[in-house]
Amino acid sequence: MPDVRIKTPNLDEIFEKWKQRSIRSDKKKMEKQFGTKGAIFSLDAVSAAEYVKDTQKEAAIYFAIKKTVGAVPKGTEEKIVLAPRVPRETFYSFKGKSNVNKDNWKGDDKVPTYETLQTISCKNCSGKGYIEGRCKTCKGTGKIEEKLTILSGEDQKKEDKLFSYPCGVCYGTGTSKEQCRDCGGHKNMYKYQILPVPFKTVVTGIPVLTSSAQTRYEKEIERDLHQMIEEVEGIRFNDFKDLESKAEPSLGYWNKNIKKTIGTAGSDYKTYSKDKDAQITTQIYLFPMIQMFCETKKGTKFEIYSLGSANKFMIYSNF
Ligand SMILES: [Zn+2]
Ligand SMILES: [Zn+2]
Repeated sequence: MPDVRIKTPNLDEIFEKWKQRSIRSDKKKMEKQFGTKGAIFSLDAVSAAEYVKDTQKEAAIYFAIKKTVGAVPKGTEEKIVLAPRVPRETFYSFKGKSNVNKDNWKGDDKVPTYETLQTISCKNCSGKGYIEGRCKTCKGTGKIEEKLTILSGEDQKKEDKLFSYPCGVCYGTGTSKEQCRDCGGHKNMYKYQILPVPFKTVVTGIPVLTSSAQTRYEKEIERDLHQMIEEVEGIRFNDFKDLESKAEPSLGYWNKNIKKTIGTAGSDYKTYSKDKDAQITTQIYLFPMIQMFCETKKGTKFEIYSLGSANKFMIYSNF
């Protein structure tokens, strides 16, 4: 980008524009403040040379951003719990509901979502709730075998016989069932997701103006620029470093306030650049700003501000 010095509008041009606008909006007031009794009022007689008492050259920096409010937080979390823990969790549901206004939302940005609740069969016990094994009491035989002593005849001859009966632990099956330690005997585990609340996304365009002139029109100028940025000529920059190094030669004048203003705008710009919900949507504009301090014949003081180059500028006044 070549170093082009921007031409600031001269006082007469600014004053002329202000005069034309003022006569259109309130002719009576103009006549009262600038007219001479007995003479026919002529706008030509109202000159900058006569009424502008002082001027100051300032600058303004402008850029616009787009901010997304209610951007969906990223990532999901999954939980796997035992059955008795499920009713202890609080679930949320947004099914069939409209998106949530973030300003009205009380709660976390991510919540356990009812629709994601799923039953998963326990792997450890294959969904049976128990582990089947050999009965420890009967060693898997289903029977208990014991020695039975019989004394026979007069001489009580001792004789041993085998006595076998079904195992009372496994009911004679030889197998026993032990509660599965993973699922606590509930056969399943329960899985659910902690999902972002479906917030309504609101994208707003925000104009950002920083000026060294300390006018009361900042908000108004900001709004105007947001709508008619093409109506005003400024010097455009793609990055702030460039603006910092070229501001003074581009404007052709300099003061402490301008330097401070550039610093402030630069740090705001940096903040917006880092904000993941914000997006800078325009180039950075540097505008010459002329502040004119005026006084009418009646002694009424007022100010006129111009913003822009000699080619295209806007004016503001508290007249
Ligand atoms: Zn047994
Ligand atoms: Zn299990």
